[in-house]
Amino acid sequence: MLLRAITPKPVRALTGNWLGHEITFTFDPTHKSWFALAGVSQETKPGTYPLELHADTSSVQSPAGPTISFEKQIRVEHQRYPRVLLKVPARYTAPSPEDQHEIEQDKETKAEAFKTLSPGREWQGSFAPPVNAEISDVFGVERVFNGTVQSTHQGLDFRVPSGTSVAAVNSGRVILARPLFFEGNCVVIDHGQGLLTLYLHLSKFLVKEGDDVKKGQPIGLSGGTGRATGPHLHLAVRWQGVYLDPQVLLKLSLP
Ligand SMILES: [Zn+2]
Repeated sequence: MLLRAITPKPVRALTGNWLGHEITFTFDPTHKSWFALAGVSQETKPGTYPLELHADTSSVQSPAGPTISFEKQIRVEHQRYPRVLLKVPARYTAPSPEDQHEIEQDKETKAEAFKTLSPGREWQGSFAPPVNAEISDVFGVERVFNGTVQSTHQGLDFRVPSGTSVAAVNSGRVILARPLFFEGNCVVIDHGQGLLTLYLHLSKFLVKEGDDVKKGQPIGLSGGTGRATGPHLHLAVRWQGVYLDPQVLLKLSLP
């Protein structure tokens, strides 16, 4: 969700708390508003939760200005997700000791990459789909691989053949571009404010770690590397440690 706050008087900084997440707003002079992106994980129970805002009113004239606080109750509704059965090569449901070693190393690689996030806002305007293709699987589907391994689909799948150009959904910095066991060739872009997008199963990288990318810039070619039933693009959205539904982000009209 996009959070937009208009303060009754100018403030120096605006932060918030939502479901235990610290949110830092960025001021947008064009809209005279403070903006931040936030979300709700699939594990959150339906109910009403408070969004707390705290504004720092200190200035050069009054360095000890009071903090203005505001609270709004937000309702989280129940959502149902489908369940599907899938077949993948056996090594992805019963990995060998060598594969398990690689999986453990990948976990460390990802944890390390996720530590270095930009606090400021790098994204500009609405997020654009990474490919122009129909959606083959939605977020949140309960999947059973080879009749045994259960996992929740944490992203959005686009039906594209191998070799299709994949574009960055918004501006940001590439914090990971390397092959991983389950993800295959994987690119992760940091858009600031705790928001990341992940592009999985690529056949080719067109960016490297540390690159700054613009919205629409090609970052790789689609493929079927890693745990994939065939060539497709898996797009994931991660915000402050939780996976969010990419379709919701792609629909938001953003400043
Ligand atoms: Zn997927």
